[in-house]
Amino acid sequence: MEFRSITENVYYFQGSVNIGYVKFSDTEGMLIDAGLEEQAMKKVLKTLKSKELPITHLFITHAHADHYGGAEYLQRQQKVFTMAPKFEAAILQEPMLEPLYLFHGVNPIQEWRNKFLEGKPVKVDVILEEAGEVRVGESRFQTVDLPGHSYHQFGVIVEDILFAADAYFGVDILHKHGIPYIVDAKQTMESLEKIKKLPCSGAVPGHGSYEKNYLPTIGGNLQVHDQIENLLYSLLDKEEDGISIEQLVTRACTEKEITIRNVPSFMLFRTAVTAYLTKLIQEGRVEILVRNNQLVVASSSE
Ligand SMILES: [Zn+2]
Repeated sequence: MEFRSITENVYYFQGSVNIGYVKFSDTEGMLIDAGLEEQAMKKVLKTLKSKELPITHLFITHAHADHYGGAEYLQRQQKVFTMAPKFEAAILQEPMLEPLYLFHGVNPIQEWRNKFLEGKPVKVDVILEEAGEVRVGESRFQTVDLPGHSYHQFGVIVEDILFAADAYFGVDILHKHGIPYIVDAKQTMESLEKIKKLPCSGAVPGHGSYEKNYLPTIGGNLQVHDQIENLLYSLLDKEEDGISIEQLVTRACTEKEITIRNVPSFMLFRTAVTAYLTKLIQEGRVEILVRNNQLVVASSSE
């Protein structure tokens, strides 16, 4: 994990999951997200200490374990004023909700409750209902509503630098995933369009690198979402009688040369595929129905 400076007061730890850092004053500083686990947070604290950079605040962009898993350790070490957007805060406080929703509400068995799907509970001091300005002592920063990858994900803008959370991915990561995790395709695309219009001088994604000119990366993300949407539609269009969502997941992953390695991973792809389907259903291009006691998705075109 490398500690990189962006502006005089804005930094980030670049790793498989990025962690932002903002120095507000000699006595106040904020982390943006907390990494996957204790180990990552230990490195963060060691680096900040060696550079005499304060940490008093923590902002969690969204409740995915790779972004908040290190928070519990941080909160055990010291007092840290923790903020999170409304719906995400509910999951941070009750992290079993993630395996619970991925597995359709069934009480998850132990192997589904791994550290990638469920971190330790996080105490949240302030629940942010809406995006806007947040004050920290004499300083302030902006939050921006970027739903789609997660229900109520917020980005952070400070000194014109956007911390975009997982609203977009670095190009390499995007192609590595094949089908990025989303919960709402329409919102995902709208959030990307929103980012394009933000007057920022640089952006850091949750996974990837800081870029001054991030617009081509945003364009690349939009392109990938369009391609996946089109792929799913064309796969369904070929099947006159429709197919099950699971079959569609399998076909889409095979088409994208993705090898699904375990059950939780299948469920993540299932959620992402369904998130594109709900967009197509809302547009009247696809329908979901029950036929012969089977859940079937089919193209609406007759
Ligand atoms: Zn995420």
